[in-house]
Amino acid sequence: MASKDYYEILGVDKNATDDDIKKAYRRLAKQYHPDVNKDDKDAEAKFKEINEAYEVLSDPQKRAQYDQFGTADPNAAGGFGGFGGFGDFGQSPFGDIFDMFFGDGFGGGRRDRRNAPQRGADIRYDIELTFEEAAFGTKKDVKINRTEPCPECGGSGARKGTSPETCPHCHGTGQIQFAQNTAFGRFVTSRTCDRCGGKGTIITDPCPHCHGRGTVKRQRTVNINIPAGIDDGQILTLSGEGELGKNGGSPGDLLIAVKVKPHKVFRRQGADVYCDIPISFVTAALGGDIEVLTLDGKIKYHIPEGTQPGTQFKLKGKGIPYIRGYGRGDQYINVIVDIPKGLTQEQKDILRQFEASYYNSDSSEKKSFFTKVKDALGG
Ligand SMILES: [Zn+2]
Ligand SMILES: [Zn+2]
Repeated sequence: MASKDYYEILGVDKNATDDDIKKAYRRLAKQYHPDVNKDDKDAEAKFKEINEAYEVLSDPQKRAQYDQFGTADPNAAGGFGGFGGFGDFGQSPFGDIFDMFFGDGFGGGRRDRRNAPQRGADIRYDIELTFEEAAFGTKKDVKINRTEPCPECGGSGARKGTSPETCPHCHGTGQIQFAQNTAFGRFVTSRTCDRCGGKGTIITDPCPHCHGRGTVKRQRTVNINIPAGIDDGQILTLSGEGELGKNGGSPGDLLIAVKVKPHKVFRRQGADVYCDIPISFVTAALGGDIEVLTLDGKIKYHIPEGTQPGTQFKLKGKGIPYIRGYGRGDQYINVIVDIPKGLTQEQKDILRQFEASYYNSDSSEKKSFFTKVKDALGG
């Protein structure tokens, strides 16, 4: 069980709002960040502690659990079977449990875990985008089914015009007290009221629309802004657009899992795009203007004289916008030199003439790798 006071670590009080906690966390995280405290072991430990505290206190479910049990570990709170640490009762996290067994009132709003606020589940939605949509961003409407408060009863579960009544069994406390004899003596303890399930209220006249549940499944259209530069496999989080939370817990998130369709010309690596451009061997040798497809449309590109197969040219800033920050990646053109096939006799003759003229020349500058190899082999 944790024995750290997460509130103290973040320097906030127990009633701090989510916003207070976030602000405190940001301030401390900045102060103790390893980047600004290089080789400072104390700062590093503190930084870890701050993160641990924030991880628990920023999650309504974990925070509620921590408040009640002094730990955010759901397994630790579930059963009291492993009650080995009786000697530790002086410590505050155990104090809460101590109260449950030895405390006086029990009426103080002590609630079963089932009744604690629970964050709603996340909803995952898979979306497929074209290469261009991912590159430049787009808007999409997605239809999701999620649990929402019943519009008829406003979430109470009671028929319109009526309200839930105080549970006569537990008188609204949600807990039933009972005495128990144990090895340590006789204790008064309590359990969840089975009449109201710990809610403290019962519905005698249920809402016909939601059958008393207070929630309904609804199809919703959610508008999503897909940011420019998103990539295959990334997930967009729409905070609070997931399933409804329980017992006042915050709603879950809508997670949009992005899949990007392959492009017939472009391949992508981060913010850079790659493409293969075939050019004739004549253009490779003599140079010339070619048309190149970019994400912004076709442009003219000048291939310099004597371009070798496998040469890569870079078009600066013609790639994909960076998802964070400004600017764009680059486009890389891989030159594929097209070797002609099915030549006529005349064309073959011309090439042989050319070969004789080119490769028999003594100019060392003209000696290609090919002829150097041939010379080396004594050919
Ligand atoms: Zn209803
Ligand atoms: Zn009850």
